[in-house]
Amino acid sequence: EHTDALAMFRAAVARNPDGDAIRYFDGRITLRELDELTDAFAVGLLDTGLDAGDRVALYLQNVPQFVIALVGTWKAGGIAVAVNPMNRERELALLLTDSGARVLVCLEGLYRDVAAHVVGGTDVQTVVTTSELEYQTRDDPRAFGTEARRGEVPGTTDMAGLIARFRGQAPPPVSFSPDDTAVLTYTSGTTGPPKGAMNTHGNVVFNSQTYRQLCELGPDDVVLGVAPLFHITGLIGHVGVALLLGAPLVLFHRFEPSLALETIRDERPTFTVGSITVFIALMNAPQAQAQDLATLTKIWSGGAPIPPSTVKAFSATFGQYIHNIYGLTETTSPSHGVPAHAQAPVDDASGALSVGVPVYNTVVRIVGDDGQDLPPGEVGEIVTSGPQIVPGYWNKPEETERAIPGGALHTGDVGYMDEAGWFYIVDRKKDQINAGGYKVWPREVEDVLYEHEAVREAAVVGVPDAYRGETVKAFVSLRPGRTADEAELIAFCKERMAAYKYPRQVEFLDEIPKTVTGKLLRRELRARERR
Ligand code: ATP
Repeated sequence: EHTDALAMFRAAVARNPDGDAIRYFDGRITLRELDELTDAFAVGLLDTGLDAGDRVALYLQNVPQFVIALVGTWKAGGIAVAVNPMNRERELALLLTDSGARVLVCLEGLYRDVAAHVVGGTDVQTVVTTSELEYQTRDDPRAFGTEARRGEVPGTTDMAGLIARFRGQAPPPVSFSPDDTAVLTYTSGTTGPPKGAMNTHGNVVFNSQTYRQLCELGPDDVVLGVAPLFHITGLIGHVGVALLLGAPLVLFHRFEPSLALETIRDERPTFTVGSITVFIALMNAPQAQAQDLATLTKIWSGGAPIPPSTVKAFSATFGQYIHNIYGLTETTSPSHGVPAHAQAPVDDASGALSVGVPVYNTVVRIVGDDGQDLPPGEVGEIVTSGPQIVPGYWNKPEETERAIPGGALHTGDVGYMDEAGWFYIVDRKKDQINAGGYKVWPREVEDVLYEHEAVREAAVVGVPDAYRGETVKAFVSLRPGRTADEAELIAFCKERMAAYKYPRQVEFLDEIPKTVTGKLLRRELRARERR
């Protein structure tokens, strides 16, 4: 219904200019204000010499400035580059160089600590800095640490100053075709060096509408931003959805369980999507109370597998059901999901929770090693085609041809469809463990470990073994106040699974290494073993 993401936002402003677009602690920005702020910011970008199609890198936490810079970039005819604020010098330099960004918008702390040492060697000509204390009056140490400062940073352009200078001016009108790139989102690099997926305006509009339809959302919903906005889940499931609906987006800088619970109590959001680690953290927070999530009736979890026992425990704690949703950076967030009012079946044989059914206009095949289509029940690679698939990776024609030949995305995920059309992810292709010829999927072992009452998080990898070539090892973190030892967890798994699958070794860690988007860094765990 909209040709581009900007048109989606403009329609929302026209419908309800006085409605809240963003709530950030005690700060409020209405849709009309957001329209004015982004007009001024776009004029400021054009004043720096930005041309149509130039890249603007956003290196920010979940702050209102992310949305202002994103929409402002579009109004200036540019392409946004979403950069993980956890990235350090090497990673930031790589993304800035790869995208050829001309402008970098970042939090002043990230500038001082990281970006200042990096921008010299890149195409960045203008650095715009801003403070996490902008647009609200609270200074909450849980959100900001002690580093947050207000004020101008030498050698950079102050965002508030730039907006003030051009306030009241509007940029010349721009229009995009659905095939124009709206955002470059980088794959997190759990499988290799990061690649910039080109999420087009058509992709962004389509999947914002997918959330609206799948999750049954309307203008009265309030969107809670638990996922990082730079990642595709937050970008579409929070920002895209809020801009499409004209619904308030509640932000609180970065996820911290007690802060999140307090924000939920204050703002009474109705919808969110995040990684399962967020929901595990909320459930285990000491201050959590059964009625805390009373209004948050529409919850989806995507980006990583959900242990079925977690869905049960979450519902026992808060009375709310976690719907599964599946997708990749390259599918601009969902390609599959569990519709509102439905509950995902659990496969009897594998114990896996279904990720749902393909979203509308989306065609999904399960493909065998020889490229042939497999019937229901058989396990193969998931290959997805639809309006949400990116046309390719930025400046990487070979990788594009390999992963997305003819527009069909080869996901690298292995799974199957049941007779009723529900899909199940078995695991990522490359994570399969080969224990003396027996193939073990780590996720299945992790699901069993999660059933143990002392286990908070679990990650399973294959480690070198003189006899079997590879053997199954589990890394486990325990819930506060609970105990378990290696022998006990091995015995627990042994009772519940085939002999070749149960872990032969268990190591306890305080924290399982994960990406900010909740993905287990199995690669890092495997590397530990080789050290
Ligand atoms: P890279 O491609 O560099 O490894 P990444 O894994 O972070 O980056 P994303 O696009 O963030 O890339 O993640 C997509 C992957 O997340 C999928 O391929 C799948 O393995 C996993 N995933 C997403 N949603 C689910 C889900 N609901 N259940 C199980 N796995 C999921």
